[in-house]
Amino acid sequence: MTPFDSFAMLDWSSGNDTGPRPRRDAIWLGLVRAGREEAPCYLRNRAEAEAALVDLIETERAAGRRLFIGCDFPFGFPEGFARALTGSDNPFAVWDWLEARIEDAPRANNRFDVAAQINARFPGLGPFWFNGLKREIEGLPRRDTRAGHGLPDRRRADEGAPGSFSAWQMGGAGAVGGQVLIGLPVLNRLRRRFAGDLAVWPFEAPDAPVVLVEVWPGLINRAVRRAEAAGGIRDAHQVRLMARGLARLPQDRLAAMLAVEAPEEGWIFGLGHEEELMRACDDTLKPPPLRDDCFALPAGVDWTPVDDALALLRARLARVVGQERVALGQAAGRVLAAPVVARRANPPEANTAVDGYGFAHASLGEGDQVLPLVEGRAAAGVPYPGAVPPGHAVRVLTGAALPEGVDTVILQEDVTVGEGRIAFRAGLRRGANTRRAGEDVAAGATVLEPGRVLTPADLALCAAVGVSELTVYERLRVAVISTGDELVEPGAEAAPGQIFDANRPMLTALVVQMGYEVVDLGRIRDDRAALRAALDRGAAEADVILTSGGASSGDEDHVSALLNEAGAMAEWRIALKPGRPLALGVWGGVPVFGLPGNPVAALVCTLIFARPALRCLAGAGWAEPQGFDVPAAFEKSKKPGRREYLRARIREGHVEVFRSEGSGRISGLSWAEGLVELPDGAAEIRPGDPVRYLPFASFLGG
Ligand code: AMP
Ligand code: MG
Repeated sequence: MTPFDSFAMLDWSSGNDTGPRPRRDAIWLGLVRAGREEAPCYLRNRAEAEAALVDLIETERAAGRRLFIGCDFPFGFPEGFARALTGSDNPFAVWDWLEARIEDAPRANNRFDVAAQINARFPGLGPFWFNGLKREIEGLPRRDTRAGHGLPDRRRADEGAPGSFSAWQMGGAGAVGGQVLIGLPVLNRLRRRFAGDLAVWPFEAPDAPVVLVEVWPGLINRAVRRAEAAGGIRDAHQVRLMARGLARLPQDRLAAMLAVEAPEEGWIFGLGHEEELMRACDDTLKPPPLRDDCFALPAGVDWTPVDDALALLRARLARVVGQERVALGQAAGRVLAAPVVARRANPPEANTAVDGYGFAHASLGEGDQVLPLVEGRAAAGVPYPGAVPPGHAVRVLTGAALPEGVDTVILQEDVTVGEGRIAFRAGLRRGANTRRAGEDVAAGATVLEPGRVLTPADLALCAAVGVSELTVYERLRVAVISTGDELVEPGAEAAPGQIFDANRPMLTALVVQMGYEVVDLGRIRDDRAALRAALDRGAAEADVILTSGGASSGDEDHVSALLNEAGAMAEWRIALKPGRPLALGVWGGVPVFGLPGNPVAALVCTLIFARPALRCLAGAGWAEPQGFDVPAAFEKSKKPGRREYLRARIREGHVEVFRSEGSGRISGLSWAEGLVELPDGAAEIRPGDPVRYLPFASFLGG
């Protein structure tokens, strides 16, 4: 089977137009287009839905993509119905029959009358029942008082679908009868319009470029309920999750599930494979853990250059967190997991950019202008009710929708007003001082891509285009451990030889600033058993572990010893200063960054190595700090062999470095506002020479 590229899921409704605001029990369309999830699309009525489907099919065809469209209502009726109604067993004869009789407008349709018409052709009472209208309809009972119509109540597929409804039931919560009568004519038109390009499963082989498939979101109910608990509209979750599940199913599994014989009644795709579908669409699905050998280094390498070490991390690390939906207000700093698509244009309608007077440009004469003012005004949120006649002007306030008959606005400072008229000079261009609808963002445009760390401005953008909920990655949980017998808690009694644990407050604060969740595992003595217990806890409660101290290969370097023992350690001897070896390992499937104990080295290694690595694990992807060249305010002669980072800050356009390079000088870390990065090779730096400066801020906020 040629693989499908895009997957749509349609949640149908037989009800009337549900208005412009997205709401439940309306029509919803979920879409994963060429592997990218789009925000579920709200379709207020069937005319809009049909147009959206045509548009979708045309776009995907034009792009040469195969499209799978799931629809949540039966494509066929119980055996015998087609022949009894149309004289043929071909289910499309029923589709044609219905299309010829169903009348459907956004605010009314004749589905109950058509059901009664069908009933009239069968003996007894039925098969359709449930008149949902106020008026009585002859032959369509309100309750299930049917008898003697001679048809089975369910299809074979329905028998195996717990909680499924009979296609004969026209109303009541969960009923599908109305949707079938109203939906099949729409599908029939698509079938004709795209004849040759579109197949209806399982009546036709699913090998056309576009395949329509009966798919019920009820099959993944548990997953939908879990997603719903986080808020949002049920139908939107249903189509989003089902489209995702379909897209994530391996194509051979998809092909196996499509291998069904049901030439007259049709079938429910995925029936009997509910668990597999749910696994595929699960919101909190986590990727598999990292492999134990993911930090292995090429053999025989002595000192690894910084860039090689970074390239290795970049190639080896991948996202380890699942996804969740959050409200806009909770989304700052989170990593976007699905693209954000504008539900609405910005601005939604043409409006005025200034306070002034609006009129039709075409109605102006030659030379200076005098226009009579109409009564009333247009303000933001309070539109002018009527049309402005040609040759007239209307008072408009910034942000007001342009009234009918207005395409140009003159600034109030540029007119004189008196006796119900305004006067102004010639020379205004058409459209002056107005904003076009959609000039900023068009409806349907993708405004943010997955991997984005959401900024406050991003939230404004989402709000402006009508998006109130976002799919983000779960927050990365980062465990922090300090190791060393010499460490005591800041503020506690320190015996001779003891020092305060300075790394933990620094590292936990860095983790918070990067937008992750801290799991503080405290100080651990230089003791294998205690450290093992702490790493076990870290592996259970966090997605990644940062340790400081004990990362070299001395007697008391228990972090590297334990990771070595677990067979999942690599000592990364990186050619950089400051920084002794970095111990990278995997403990219980969770990556461990064994940072040097020295606080200066610990900070530099965290910023240079751990920060981009954490971004990968968190789903934000690799990122380099944005630095720039600044004239040096210092002098330095650097030997070749390793890259150097100096504690630095900018004053008066020049970058100065801390007076001492001593790696024990924590005061210099605090003094600094960034790092100067000196290249791997030799360098002679004189005052005024450009050097690369990396502000601390360029490492944080993701
Ligand atoms: P280590 O990597 O364990 O050999 O430690 C290197 C240096 O960093 C030693 O002088 C330690 O005392 C010091 N050190 C280790 N951990 C910390 C910490 N959490 N806070 C302050 N200094 C530390
Ligand atoms: Mg130590």
